[in-house]
Amino acid sequence: MTMKILVPVKRVLDYNIKPRVAADGNGVDTQGAKMSMNPFDEIALEEAVRLREKGSASEVVAVSIGPQAAQDVLRTAMAMGADRAILVKTDQLLEPLAVAKILKIIIEREQPGLISMGKQAIDDDMNATGQMLAAMLSWPQATFASKVTVADNCAEVIREIDGGTEVISVPLPAVITADLRLNEPRYASLPNIMKARKKPLETIEADSLGVDLTPHLTILKVEEPSERKAGVIVKDIEELVSKLKTEAKVLP
Ligand code: AMP
Repeated sequence: MTMKILVPVKRVLDYNIKPRVAADGNGVDTQGAKMSMNPFDEIALEEAVRLREKGSASEVVAVSIGPQAAQDVLRTAMAMGADRAILVKTDQLLEPLAVAKILKIIIEREQPGLISMGKQAIDDDMNATGQMLAAMLSWPQATFASKVTVADNCAEVIREIDGGTEVISVPLPAVITADLRLNEPRYASLPNIMKARKKPLETIEADSLGVDLTPHLTILKVEEPSERKAGVIVKDIEELVSKLKTEAKVLP
């Protein structure tokens, strides 16, 4: 099969790092903090690599839109199995709409048969880019995927929905967004990290694409969550019931 899979990957604050509110109160302080590939994008990439390994696809291309430093996540993507990568370079903070517009241009150039992407980026939790992209391309979308089977130019996707799962079939080309249970991404081995250094990484200036990237949202304030009070260990059910009545007041 000669299908190409495009995997958009975002560079985000590493999920192990406790975020700090930036001094201007308008976002998260990422200065000097460890940044990594968005975890859902690792899953989306793993799925694409597995489809290629099974013979359902011929090439996996990772694309990231962001600063020069986003090269790192693209090298990781190639160490995990992507064949090549594209960096669309910009220092601007981007909303899902702007990301979707840029991805659409890249897709028109690359003509992939499938977009495998994360259901959401863990920095802004937007959960919007895949849906917007599918709408802009007029392609079918299968979001929150927990299983993907590709056959006969269709993808059968099990989706995670409230209270259970749903099975849908979408004709390709389509956009699939990965949920947590889709797979367990592999680690990049040292030899593969070395090999990834030699794989092609193309850089495109976002400004050269003629896309309006102006933000439409204004962040008014970003706050730390309120501190949680320490819990107590009760010695028996009677004490629990008594506390539920007198302290929590959730029992009469
Ligand atoms: P979001 O809608 O921001 O929660 O992101 C959903 C998915 O869109 C992510 O999991 C990525 O696959 C993709 N995405 C979002 N922002 C970017 C970006 N700057 N570069 C590449 N992919 C992105």
